[in-house]
Amino acid sequence: MKLHTIETGFFKLDGGAMFGVVPKQIWQKLCPPDALNLCTWAMRCLLVETSNRLILIDTGIGSKQPDKFLAHYHLHGSHTLHSSLANKGFNRHDLTDVILTHLHFDHCGGAIDRTADGTLVPAFKNARYWTNTPHWDWATQPNDREKASFLPDNILPLLSSGQLNFVPTNGTQTVAFDGELNLSLRMAFGHTQAMMLPQITVGETTIVFMADLIPSVAHLPLPYVMGYDMFPCTTLQEKKSFLEEALAGNYVLFFEHDAHTACCTLAQTEKGIRAGNTGSLTDFIAA
Ligand SMILES: [Zn+2]
Repeated sequence: MKLHTIETGFFKLDGGAMFGVVPKQIWQKLCPPDALNLCTWAMRCLLVETSNRLILIDTGIGSKQPDKFLAHYHLHGSHTLHSSLANKGFNRHDLTDVILTHLHFDHCGGAIDRTADGTLVPAFKNARYWTNTPHWDWATQPNDREKASFLPDNILPLLSSGQLNFVPTNGTQTVAFDGELNLSLRMAFGHTQAMMLPQITVGETTIVFMADLIPSVAHLPLPYVMGYDMFPCTTLQEKKSFLEEALAGNYVLFFEHDAHTACCTLAQTEKGIRAGNTGSLTDFIAA
């Protein structure tokens, strides 16, 4: 099994919303905001290559939304989902599976494209797309607070394509994605309903795709929970138990949104669990 980092570009989000109850005086030292109080975040995806499968985890924001919408998020950077796949020697038709950690637009927007005549079609015609039933039900009947993150154009065409599959969650905390792969899905319920965090073992190393449970290194301290989260105290508990397990197991954390740091291990400090070694994925596992 090989893992590849797939950068899909950067966007900006309000620093206050990203750090919840943490005062700006503190978070601005970790993530300096621009004049509009916006901080820069990556949309970093992970590609899992096996002898017969090519599995993409999340897709970034995509390019089909109106320019006005995309401008609102200040997209920038030289990488796109498709340029990054090409740089690794793949094209969109090679993908066999796309795991969507959750259906917020910055995670699944690239899953669906708009054709010249305006039709919404899967960006990966040979891939099975994966979500789970509790999350699907939550995303397709969104509450008013979270509705702006669940865009029907990203979500409904997945079902009509016939390519959508549902991981059997059975209310458990971790489910096997595929018995033959060392890939399981950890379930988290604080950010949104039933978010899936892929956990992959390569050799002796366990890598966890953090999605929006811990979006960046700056979010490692326990109270640093995003204002966007639906159930922040659930996130707090999920972070605490995850960080203790990950420290004990010397896991590598893969950050989807950290603009500078793709991966880290953990270390116990007098302030709590913080980053140990930081670097790119290839610093932790062989390419
Ligand atoms: Zn999210």
